[in-house]
Amino acid sequence: MNSADSESLARRLLAAGYVEDTLDRADVAILNTCVVRQASEDRVYSKLHELKEWKTPQRTIAVTGCIVAKEGDQLKRRFPHLDAVVPIGDYEPFLGDLEARFDYSNGEAMPQAGRTGVSHFVRVIQGCDHNCTFCIVPRVRGREKHVPLAQVVAECRHAVDEGAREIVLLGQNVDDYHDPDGGGGLAALVRAVQGIPGLRRLRFMTSHPQDLEMELLEVMAGSDVVCRELQLPVQSGDDTILKRMARGYQTRHYRAIVERARALMPDIGLVTDVIVGFPGESEDAFMNTRALVEELEFDVVHIAMYSPRPGTFAATRMQDDVPHEEKLRRLNDLLALSREIARRKTQRWIGREVEVLVEGRDELQRPYGRIRQGKRAIVLKGGDIAPGDVVNIRVMQATAGQLTGLPAA
Ligand code: SF4
Repeated sequence: MNSADSESLARRLLAAGYVEDTLDRADVAILNTCVVRQASEDRVYSKLHELKEWKTPQRTIAVTGCIVAKEGDQLKRRFPHLDAVVPIGDYEPFLGDLEARFDYSNGEAMPQAGRTGVSHFVRVIQGCDHNCTFCIVPRVRGREKHVPLAQVVAECRHAVDEGAREIVLLGQNVDDYHDPDGGGGLAALVRAVQGIPGLRRLRFMTSHPQDLEMELLEVMAGSDVVCRELQLPVQSGDDTILKRMARGYQTRHYRAIVERARALMPDIGLVTDVIVGFPGESEDAFMNTRALVEELEFDVVHIAMYSPRPGTFAATRMQDDVPHEEKLRRLNDLLALSREIARRKTQRWIGREVEVLVEGRDELQRPYGRIRQGKRAIVLKGGDIAPGDVVNIRVMQATAGQLTGLPAA
């Protein structure tokens, strides 16, 4: 979601005649922020401290993103060198102020409006109507607003015309999507977008186990364009903790989704999120999470230590009773387990032919991209392969993080 917001703001700035440059040559620095965890919020403050050195009367520092809803004008009091606090999506007044401040009329030639890359991110829902007890998102992003299906399809069509090969549909809980004009839910939207001529890949994130429609899995399985990857946060493998988190499902529901998805798409890439050390998480509860991770063999597990977020139900009504050292132990234990599973599971690709959408070149100038199941892949001897190309490779090496292979004959 943050990347999509950054892209949206960057597109407007480029269209208005600004150019991207390194920080030491730039006139304007904009921080797009995330406050979903304390650690990400702390990074914003440390970056703002760092920018003190960079700031001069001629230079502008702006902050946008979720921290604006959380901290508002407090930020300016705390960081007097900060020039602008810009609410998400409300960019016009800020751009107007910049225009008044900098006269670019004699500057460099206007760059092309838009900056469509290989992947184009489209926000289909803003905000979230759930109230998971640990989550600050509903407070900072507000209630759900759904973009009409026809508008999403038009934006995707335009992006593909401009050269995008992959569309990524985004929502905090993308499974909750429904067309305000009555055109259906996410399955209908995916069906509509996948038919756009020239589109090679379609992804969506993030899913929610309570809202995912089984029909969506069938649409995925029947499509050559939709990626075989599901980002489905489980958060805990213990039903009591799931209830305390107000997630709205139990582990048996989660298992049923995974079972159905794997029955339809045996190789589906499965990515999940887990929080360790949630209030009340006993050793037994943690072991249930560990057992679920072991049983379902996720391809990727994003693990976070619980940190209370101000204003959430968990922060105000529950005691943060798992000591920090214990949270860290659980995190490291789960990390080691999930890496071992990923390393083992990735071996299945060796010797197989897979399709890679090339996104760029790495520091060794080798083309890299992703396979349809989401795994990163490096193409060896890919001399004239360019970003946006779709190539088949025969996998020679597989680590937990990536596949390496030669173009298939
Ligand atoms: Fe937060 Fe996701 Fe729960 Fe919404 S569904 S409240 S974004 S964790």
